[in-house]
Amino acid sequence: MYDECDFVIDSRKVTPGCIFVAIRGEKTDGHFYVQDALFKGAKYAVVEKEVDAPASQLIKVENTVDFLINTARDKVQKYKPFVIGITGSNGKTTTKELISQSIGKENCFANPGNFNTEIGLPLSIINHYHGERYLVLEMAMNKFGDIAKLCEMAQPDVSVLLNVGSAHRGVAGNDQAILEGKLQIIGKMRPNGTAVVINDERILRKISTPFLVTFGYRKGDYQLLDYCYHDLSTTAAYKTASETVEFNLKSIWNTGQLTNIAAVLAVLDLIKVNYNKDLIENFSPVQGRFKVFKHRDIIVIDDCYNASLESFRVAIETLRKLGKRSFAVVGSIKEQGVYSAQTHQELGKMLEALDGVIVYNSDHEIDFMSCSKEILRTDDAEQVVLFLRKILQPQDVVLFKASRAVQIEKVLEKYMEGSK
Ligand code: ADP
Repeated sequence: MYDECDFVIDSRKVTPGCIFVAIRGEKTDGHFYVQDALFKGAKYAVVEKEVDAPASQLIKVENTVDFLINTARDKVQKYKPFVIGITGSNGKTTTKELISQSIGKENCFANPGNFNTEIGLPLSIINHYHGERYLVLEMAMNKFGDIAKLCEMAQPDVSVLLNVGSAHRGVAGNDQAILEGKLQIIGKMRPNGTAVVINDERILRKISTPFLVTFGYRKGDYQLLDYCYHDLSTTAAYKTASETVEFNLKSIWNTGQLTNIAAVLAVLDLIKVNYNKDLIENFSPVQGRFKVFKHRDIIVIDDCYNASLESFRVAIETLRKLGKRSFAVVGSIKEQGVYSAQTHQELGKMLEALDGVIVYNSDHEIDFMSCSKEILRTDDAEQVVLFLRKILQPQDVVLFKASRAVQIEKVLEKYMEGSK
């Protein structure tokens, strides 16, 4: 019935003939926009509560998010693809991209961008999946139970668990809930499915699946053996099931990202797809996800897209290896709830390793952070930029990092604009 229609949840994106699905969000409620969507040409609106609109155009369901999931599941069941599910606190998007690009577009569909939630993932399957043999999906967890739901929609044949960190712990409840929630990707995979899991004792002791492949930095079945940086590139050596291989990556990769490549090699071996050395070596980090470049003799790290303690740790570790002196412009780590004070205190300790820390406090969770290396604290992006221009010298390195909501990329943009 819906096969030929695009599904849309934002009435501003309605095109004639589409189906508008009204979702109750935190900030607004899609049900307010049903009339607008129908006026703009939506064929039907899917709703879960009463709205004032022609009944012939309304499809009433219990829960509109479940409706999306069920519609996507029907599509997956129709084509029966081989499903590779990826979860973890960090690294999902990059890992997904590397796996799907290695398989190739003709045979593989991967969720675009980071459409990885209980809304974004079904939407991308409904609108863009056309029966390719492999389905590579990143599955994000905001709250306990999300991963199980996504696995019921597309049950993985291979489940990849990259790491379990502290991201969103305020929303998920606590660290245990995060661990248990992410483990659902293994609990809910196909009975004969294979789990590809980071070699971390805390995680492995919870797993009893018969088919298990591990990966890690100097441990596991697939290992990152060693790596070094030269200019703005990375040489990394890996041990796979059958060989030792070296990659000359054309950009700077941090240890976390490098470890994810071991997971990629494991998955490709499992599905008997040869890795493409050129593709891996030339893969360019997505903007905002630890993208390192030189700007007027200063090494800049754009890691504005998101932040957690774990991604800060690997960023700081790399920062110190790159430049003459290392600086960071940092903002809050959000979604930490009752852990916020503890998280920011830990962040302060990590930042001690740097030469200077600039705190961008456009929001106030970062107030919990103290660090003896702090040299400026302000909510004025312009002031950050002027200060950076004053202190930075050739070959220094500067990291920009905070949670998405902080929009620290605005500071980076100003810095780049001003010094063109
Ligand atoms: P995700 O899709 O899970 O948000 P990305 O691939 O977009 O992950 O990477 C986001 C951030 O996570 C970047 O800052 C990157 O440096 C960091 N990161 C990637 N892999 C790891 C890892 N294994 N451990 C810690 N941080 C990591």
